[in-house]
Amino acid sequence: MTKPLTLEEQCAHKGMRMTDQRRTIAQVIEQSPDHPDVEELYRRAAAIDQRISLSTVYRTVNLFEEAGLVTKHDFKDGRARFELIPDEHHDHLIDIRSGKVIEFRNEEIEAIQEVIAKRLGYRLVDHRLELYAVPLKTEDK
Ligand SMILES: [Zn+2]
Repeated sequence: MTKPLTLEEQCAHKGMRMTDQRRTIAQVIEQSPDHPDVEELYRRAAAIDQRISLSTVYRTVNLFEEAGLVTKHDFKDGRARFELIPDEHHDHLIDIRSGKVIEFRNEEIEAIQEVIAKRLGYRLVDHRLELYAVPLKTEDK
């Protein structure tokens, strides 16, 4: 098994010039298990290197996105969120009360989407699915 490339290594492969600041931002994205927006990434990056500015983070994540190394999400709260391109596809459920984002994968959904595309005369190559939800009321809450 070969070790997957880090985001920094992937950037180097793409011929991207990697400054210390870009390296720090790449590491922050890599170490973020959630779906942070630019401001949150900025807070995390500035905690490591206080010379990093919000506009640098903004430009860098967009550069990574254009290079196809990170993916951008719009969870309808007016903030673009970023995450690494996952090894395995997943979809998202967004708790619209708390803003919490839950990742899931459902094989039935995956399969039915292919069926729908096929019926319409297409071969599915990608999809995005976002569920917007509120927590169920439970008695012990
Ligand atoms: Zn995700």
